[in-house]
Amino acid sequence: MQGARVHITGIVQGVGFRPFVYNLATRLDLKGWVKNTSAGVEIEVDGEKDILDIFVQKLRDEAPALSSIDEFSASFRPASGFSSFDIRHSESVDGAFQPISPDVSICPDCLRELFDPSDRRYHYPFINCTNCGPRFTIIKDIPYDRPKTTMAGFPLCPDCEREYTDPTNRRFHAQPVACAVCGPKVWLESGTLKERKF
Ligand SMILES: [Zn+2]
Ligand SMILES: [Zn+2]
Repeated sequence: MQGARVHITGIVQGVGFRPFVYNLATRLDLKGWVKNTSAGVEIEVDGEKDILDIFVQKLRDEAPALSSIDEFSASFRPASGFSSFDIRHSESVDGAFQPISPDVSICPDCLRELFDPSDRRYHYPFINCTNCGPRFTIIKDIPYDRPKTTMAGFPLCPDCEREYTDPTNRRFHAQPVACAVCGPKVWLESGTLKERKF
């Protein structure tokens, strides 16, 4: 058993990087953690040396489509004795900064749900997931997490909460996740139209 520590900078927050690392690590049966800091993404894992090599290689090769890695450093160290793999709480690092993802237009999966009458987000205009939705326009500070976005005022309903916390769900850790029950709403008021007898 050995340990590895990885530090990645670039557009790596708000693009599904932590869920990607979580799923990759659990697939390879590695224990440890991943977290966002304002200096990037930090990862620490324990495992067999050859599996750690595969892990480090796949981190670069299979990084989420919306991410853009600027710097990537990996170092090996003695194992720390982790017993599970966790997404840890984000941390602020004084003076550090990471570029922020732009907003991303609707992905094919969300588009399909948007027009599926049996989907609970049928015609919900703010539908989004890990691969699409608002980023830049909702972020107030980094590291990028829901409490630091304009979504902070919209607590998740039980259904959204379930998706957000399920590692197999495509909305796992998608910060702007919302639905018609818990998310922002939009409506049109006729106002003066009535008086004009339209
Ligand atoms: Zn989507
Ligand atoms: Zn909801």
